[in-house]
Amino acid sequence: MKINVTKSSMPDFKEYCDEIKDLWESCWLTNMGEKHKELQRQLKAYLQAEDVDLVTNGHMALELSMQALQLTGEVITTPFTFISTTHAIVRNGLTPVFCDINRDDYTMDVSRIEQLITDKTSAIVPVHVYGNVCDVDEISRIATRYGLKVIYDAAHTFGVKYKGEGIAKFGDVSCYSFHATKVFHTIEGGAICYKDRAFGEIIGRLKDFGICDEEAVTEIGPNAKMNEFCAAMGLCNLRHVDGEIRKRKTIVERYREKLEGADGIKLPPVQKDVTSNYAYFPVVFDETRFGVGRDAVRERLAENEVGARKYFYPLTSEYSCYENKYDTKKTPVADWVSKRVLTLPLYADLDISTVDVICDLILQCGKSAV
Ligand SMILES: *Cc1c(COP(=O)(O)O)cnc(C)c1O
Repeated sequence: MKINVTKSSMPDFKEYCDEIKDLWESCWLTNMGEKHKELQRQLKAYLQAEDVDLVTNGHMALELSMQALQLTGEVITTPFTFISTTHAIVRNGLTPVFCDINRDDYTMDVSRIEQLITDKTSAIVPVHVYGNVCDVDEISRIATRYGLKVIYDAAHTFGVKYKGEGIAKFGDVSCYSFHATKVFHTIEGGAICYKDRAFGEIIGRLKDFGICDEEAVTEIGPNAKMNEFCAAMGLCNLRHVDGEIRKRKTIVERYREKLEGADGIKLPPVQKDVTSNYAYFPVVFDETRFGVGRDAVRERLAENEVGARKYFYPLTSEYSCYENKYDTKKTPVADWVSKRVLTLPLYADLDISTVDVICDLILQCGKSAV
């Protein structure tokens, strides 16, 4: 049986059918219906956000947030992320300026932000990558000092807390993805968490073509409204997400137990003051110490029907659509990690015995090279 790197959490079939039953009575399928309103209300509480709006996906959350904040010129971000983060910046007509990441948790290296700020910089777009929380305190200090906006790509951070508080409270905006592969999903979907009321009103219009009322269109917006079927999936999944995260925790603990201490394997960090959602299990292989490199390990796993992912490789700045635009030598740590990282299978229903098999396969790779 093939093991994929991820597998979508599913509510009980009957539970979903019950949830969507009302839709046959109301015939109201999209445009901010009852399910949309209810999910928005529940997520606001769950994420401890001041305010939330729902959209079609995490990418539109990022694109619309940048548009609503009317960013201009340059935006400081990292290339060690899913392509969506960089695309959202470029598709807003902005120039991404790539900041390197740190070696411990792969988030933005805050000691390098200030040297990248110019008079064209309008914002910082850091990524809570793999669910690791960025240095939110230092980013906030820098943003205040230079008058910059902060939009967090929080796609990996559903339910994560820092010092007991939902991470949505940091920055001007936090963008979540509810894609089928994420810890919490609405099949496709996303959310924008924010504080500023005026910003929220703009987002509300932007996600609906910029329509203000029947005779007024005030913004040039796309269509990014979450439909009722997706919102209903979210209502079902939200009931079970804590249990799913607990199951992920057990799996992650097993991975740690088995792989801890192996020479040349760096496990994901346990961050101080952070309540994790156990979204991913990225492992970094240092070939000089482990014996073989990431690609060999991945191949060995693939031969045994285990799908691990080179997530994130290549860097977003290296894709052919951005050819010759950015220099990866300017982000050497991101470059180093991206060539060595492998994300191991992790989803709530993954068997512990399968985790053992995966770990044994990995450890054998190292030994066979000695
Ligand atoms: C998933 C993801 C996105 C995009 O979200 P979609 O819902 O797939 O549009 C953006 N950034 C990161 C880091 C992601 O992992």
